[in-house]
This record gives sequence, structure tokens and C-alpha cells, in this order.
Amino acid sequence: MPTERASFAERRARAAAKLREQDLGALLASPGADLFYLAGYQIFASERLTCLVLDRDGKTTLVCPEFEAPRAAVAAPDIERATWEETDDPYAIVASFVRASGGVAVADQMWAAFVLRLQNALPQSPFHVASEITRDLRMRKDPAEVEALRLVSESADRAYARILERPFAGRTEREIGADLAELLRTEGHDEVGFTIVASAANGASPHHETGDRRIAAGDTVVLDFGGAMRGYRSDITRTVHVGKPAGREEQEVHDVVRRAQEAGYAAARKDASAESVDAASRRVIDDAGYGEFFIHRTGHGIGLDGHEHPYLVRGNRERLESGMAFSIEPGIYLPGRFGVRIEDIAVIDPDGSARPLNRADHAFATVA
Ligand code: ZN
Ligand code: ZN
Ligand code: ZN
Repeated sequence: MPTERASFAERRARAAAKLREQDLGALLASPGADLFYLAGYQIFASERLTCLVLDRDGKTTLVCPEFEAPRAAVAAPDIERATWEETDDPYAIVASFVRASGGVAVADQMWAAFVLRLQNALPQSPFHVASEITRDLRMRKDPAEVEALRLVSESADRAYARILERPFAGRTEREIGADLAELLRTEGHDEVGFTIVASAANGASPHHETGDRRIAAGDTVVLDFGGAMRGYRSDITRTVHVGKPAGREEQEVHDVVRRAQEAGYAAARKDASAESVDAASRRVIDDAGYGEFFIHRTGHGIGLDGHEHPYLVRGNRERLESGMAFSIEPGIYLPGRFGVRIEDIAVIDPDGSARPLNRADHAFATVA
């Protein structure tokens, strides 16, 4: 179920309404999630400016290099283009389409090289981040987006099932990471985002940089990986044990994390606050005596960006709504020893409950 062109037009209309509501003149989106969300156009960022200009009346123009116009015409045939040649000033062209006075909202991840030149070209306009406009829209996924997230999550599930069949002992974290990247692609990802392979004591660092440590029998290994399929992102974590079933303490820690994740699921439903999901997972870990070793928030929203709103963190009273998708990923990290994390992506269904988009087995698997 790919997103229809009409849905992109509707998103732009809603973004324009928000611009008027917040008294902003225009939204400027360079290559990235906002551009894809509003126009269905995906292109790598480069030093040549590509910029969607959405003004407060809903008029949309894609400013892009002349030689990329054919590509843009295929991806977003319904959007007017203003092209520039190698010797033109693209910033002046963008500025010429910003007609209303008032602030300008620029994509949160627009490069400084573009932002600074656009500020020069629009000296009267205060600049804002575009998430002030797009976050409310992007946070509530429509059915086509939920379906895209389901498909990419299931692709990651299959990659996980297949990594369990490969040997771990005697190989480096980097080799397992390369296997995961290959499996993500063969299972349908068109982009590999990251592959964290954190063995033994490295597992106590939640964002460990996969390295040259050689994995040995008896290790506990955290596998956290994901990427994208047609723009939408996956993110899954499972923890495995190498060579033989886990020992008592590792098994106990894994059980606690698993129960914490289940408690997160049970708490995640329509109208619950984002922080209540974090609290529910954290309570299980606190009660088991490992509270000081759960050192990050319980989850983050996911969609066209790997981390986006809503964040499941203490202090976030935002209410969960149908269509919101986010990770539930409690963990316990014992410095110098090992770590355990379990992560799934979940979505709030129209009936109000949280549905897991990852279906991979949660058991503490033993690998060779
Ligand atoms: Zn992370
Ligand atoms: Zn992850
Ligand atoms: Zn995550």
C-alpha cells in the first residue's frame, strides 16, 4: 500500500494550515524526512541545493538542480519545479518563492551550509525549526505508513531469525555486524542504518561501536540493528548467549528486561501518557533491584526518522494516540560485565491497544 499522491497533497495542505496558525510564511525542506513526507521525493543530500518551498497558502515549489529535474518529475509529478543551472544562485530562487512575510521554518536536519545562505537570502525572516509544523503531523501515522513500518519491521525480524543460524564464537563483532547488514538487505531493506553488536562487557554500553573484539563461548551479545525500506525505518534489539545456555544471573537479568518490556506494552495504549510507559517498564527493573543500571529512556518514536516524537521518557506527558509508532526498549547494563536489551516497535491501533510490529522471538536464544 504505497502512499498515494493525494495523501502527499493532503499533508501539504495540513502543513500550510499550521503555517497560518503559527503565523509563519513558509516551510523549507531539503533532502530528508520532511521532504519525503510532504512530497514523496527522496534524494541524497549533496552540496547542490534541493529545497521544497511550501508557502502558507499551500503553494508548493521544488527548487532543484536542472539535471535532477527528470528524477523529481518521476517521483513527484504533481509538484511544480523551479530549476537552477550550475552558475545560478539557488538561494535567491528559494527566496523568490517565499512571498509572505513572517518566519520561515527550515527542516531540522538541514545542513548549516544551506541554512546560513538561506538566512542571507531572507534577511527579514526569523528562522524556526520545521518540526514545529511537521511533528504533530508525522507523529500520527496514516494506515499506509503503519503498513510500511510493519513491512520493514518484519524484514528486520527475518534478519534476526537468520543470524541465529550463523556461528558467533571465534568471530568478531564486526563480522557479525556485516552479516546483519547483508541479511537486512537480502530480507528487503534498501538501506542499512546501523548494526550494533555488543559482546560481553561491551554490552554494558548501550550504543557500543561494533568493533574487533572476538566473541567467545559464554558471552552475552546485544544485537541492535535497523535500516529503511522505502523511507520507513526499522529498529530491533535482541540479546543472545553464545555456545551454551546462559548462566543463572544472565538469565535472571534477561527475564527482568523481558518482563519490563511486557509491562511497557501493557501500559502503552491510547490516552496513556508517554512517560507512563517509561514508568511501567522502569518499575519492573527497579523492583528487581537493577534500577541504577537502566540508564536510558524506554523508547522513541519512529517513522521516516529512526528517532522522532513521541519520546517515552519521564517528563513527557504527551498522550499516546492511534497511529503513533515507537520503540519499547528497556535494558540493564552491568559495567564491566554484560548488558541485556530487548526492543520492539509498537503502534497504537485504532482500538487503542499497542500492537507489536516486530514478531521475532523474545526468548534468550543460544547461538553457536
Ligand atoms: Zn538507540
Ligand atoms: Zn535499537
Ligand atoms: Zn531504538
